[in-house]
Amino acid sequence: MEFSKHNIFSKIADSDNYFIVNPLSGNADILEPQEAEAFKNKTGDNLNEFIEKGYLVDLQKEEQLFKSKYLDFIDDRDEDEVQLFFTPWYACNFNCSYCFQDEYTNPNEAVKHEVIDAFFNYVDRQFADRRKYITIFGGEPLLNNSAKKESIERIISEANKRGLDIAVVTNGYNLIDFIDVLKKGSIREIQVTVDGTQKVHDARRMLRGGKGSFDRIAEGIDDLLQNNIPVNLRMIIDKENVHNLPEFSRYAIEKGWTKSPLFKTALGRNYELHHCQTNNKRLFSRIEMYKEIYQIIKENPEVLEFHKPAFSIAKFIFENGELPNPLFDSCTGTKTEWAFDYTGKIYSCTATVGNDGDELGTFYPEVKLDEERIEEWEERDVLSITECSNCAVRLACGGGCTAVAKTQSGKINSPDCRPVQELLELGIGLYSEINI
Ligand code: SF4
Ligand code: SF4
Repeated sequence: MEFSKHNIFSKIADSDNYFIVNPLSGNADILEPQEAEAFKNKTGDNLNEFIEKGYLVDLQKEEQLFKSKYLDFIDDRDEDEVQLFFTPWYACNFNCSYCFQDEYTNPNEAVKHEVIDAFFNYVDRQFADRRKYITIFGGEPLLNNSAKKESIERIISEANKRGLDIAVVTNGYNLIDFIDVLKKGSIREIQVTVDGTQKVHDARRMLRGGKGSFDRIAEGIDDLLQNNIPVNLRMIIDKENVHNLPEFSRYAIEKGWTKSPLFKTALGRNYELHHCQTNNKRLFSRIEMYKEIYQIIKENPEVLEFHKPAFSIAKFIFENGELPNPLFDSCTGTKTEWAFDYTGKIYSCTATVGNDGDELGTFYPEVKLDEERIEEWEERDVLSITECSNCAVRLACGGGCTAVAKTQSGKINSPDCRPVQELLELGIGLYSEINI
């Protein structure tokens, strides 16, 4: 028997124990030091269990299992719901210190009605057999002038005609003025970005002109929850605001937000996408950020009431008592995600939407698709990326983000590595100590 190619084996952070996670066989265990030693030497009382759990395998049989799970993955994904982003303009009322869209050209006009109609015609035809929902994106989609408000109403009403849910990604400033418009739709969630408590948030996410935005956004979140509209609060993190996480968590707890079943949170990492940020010293690498968050949570466990970080698949394992299905591809672009903008262009996802050169076709004034490039996107997964072929963590990593990989290497078929093993060391350490 050989060691499985998919064993992720390491020592748990701040513990003498070890873990073994195998995303292909779907098993995970915590091992005491002597058990870990026996495992490394393929000896000891647990040998049969190691074989049963797919940690020690016949490599040929494992290859067959890999192929069959890959086919299951492709089948499942074909059944998955598709998220269709629509950007009615790139204009924005904010001047965030880290905006990756700040170099986009932003003519301050509302999207033409005929473009909205063309978008929905395209959706009707192209995604007729798929489950789907629409996410309104920007720039900032909720801008408070009558033409733009009317455009948002039109998108919601067209979605309603088709029985489609709507999500909105917003900076939250005008939520209080849009509640009545939003109430007309079947709202899946409103994603609002808040980067910390008032002082911290206002120094990063200010209006053009510099005025703070926190108070109005917090009022908007209250309004959404009172009107039974789900909120996904996203905090973008870098070295300048990470230490505000405990105070901001306490704020959200005191507001009663975290008690609501309609309230969830996400932590995003501030990173460079298409161009350099002027102040890039404040950026974390992925593992730096999670190491910092791990320490913060150990000292301030109340943060977990606000947000439970995924630490790769660690949170999933502890919450569900099982592993997620093997992840052959972590990028949703062109598979279960597409993005469309007011100029009639089609893109893979929100990371590429509006970026010159990343368009994959048009839906207006005519439908035209760059089939060759779309195919390249569609075929990228851990089997097509050479670097991933012998990587032990590939079925938890999934090859990372295509847009990031392409920006870094110039090639679509290249890896965007995730520090899976290090994240599991932290996450298993944290969640095995704290009941979640
Ligand atoms: S390219 Fe990156 S941002 Fe876009 S869908 Fe893929 S993983 Fe997500
Ligand atoms: S992207 Fe990197 S870490 Fe992820 S599977 Fe490929 S080689 Fe491994």
